[in-house]
Amino acid sequence: MFYDTHAHLDYPDYKNDFDEVIARAQVAGVSKMISIGTSLDSSERAIRLADKFPAIYAAVGWHPSDALKAPSDLRPALREMCKHPKVVAIGEIGLDYHHLPSSGGDASSPNQSIEAAGRSIHAGDAANKQRQADIFQQQLEVAAETGLNCVIHQRDAFDDTLAQLKPFAGKLRGVFHCFGENADRMRRVLDLGSLVSFTGIVTFKNGQNVRDTVAATPLGQFMLETDCPYLAPVPYRGRRCEPAYVKEISETVAQVKNCSLEELSAATCEAARDFFPRLVA
Ligand SMILES: [Zn+2]
Repeated sequence: MFYDTHAHLDYPDYKNDFDEVIARAQVAGVSKMISIGTSLDSSERAIRLADKFPAIYAAVGWHPSDALKAPSDLRPALREMCKHPKVVAIGEIGLDYHHLPSSGGDASSPNQSIEAAGRSIHAGDAANKQRQADIFQQQLEVAAETGLNCVIHQRDAFDDTLAQLKPFAGKLRGVFHCFGENADRMRRVLDLGSLVSFTGIVTFKNGQNVRDTVAATPLGQFMLETDCPYLAPVPYRGRRCEPAYVKEISETVAQVKNCSLEELSAATCEAARDFFPRLVA
């Protein structure tokens, strides 16, 4: 038995075969799934799935890559959603400096023209980072108020993410999802009382750095996730991912940790129930 602690089940990728996807997860022993919100609409959809399917839970939050599209104050809507008994966390929230306007940005960023002066490109990046930090802060506040933990997304922004999380240590914990950093950074996360979680990247041929971090992370301090529909593990790499593939991820992680699947199941599920107390509801 395993849990998929990070799935985007509200995405249109599943609209044609949703029931089969959930049935395959159950057959594979993936008994609980957390559908992660990336906007208010996506969070609402996650809650509706949680209402309909006993095995599905929801996290609610606004993803940093869409920061510019967020309402000025996310807090009132999130506070309302957190009243739902199957909302188990705030997420995914954090900082992403990989998709800033100067790098092409994301669809929501005002794209700076290529011939724009370096200074104006930089100004677009600075404004985007500031907006990301603002909504990250709002959502950390709601988490602290409601007693929920946070699902953290960070890319190329590790130090700033940790710095912004630090004042909340003791009030909430974060899980640094899709963890791809080295063992030293993993320890800095654990030192704040937070956790990490690993995706199908552990199965990739070029995933040795992640396997090294898995090897260094104590059992009980990490969870498993697919981040589906992204990051399908080998042998499904490049195809649509789904929660059932936690099975392949768990097999590789058990090898790396040199433990049995039973030990890995007990340790990762206990870590998840401890981190997401409403998961047992
Ligand atoms: Zn995600």
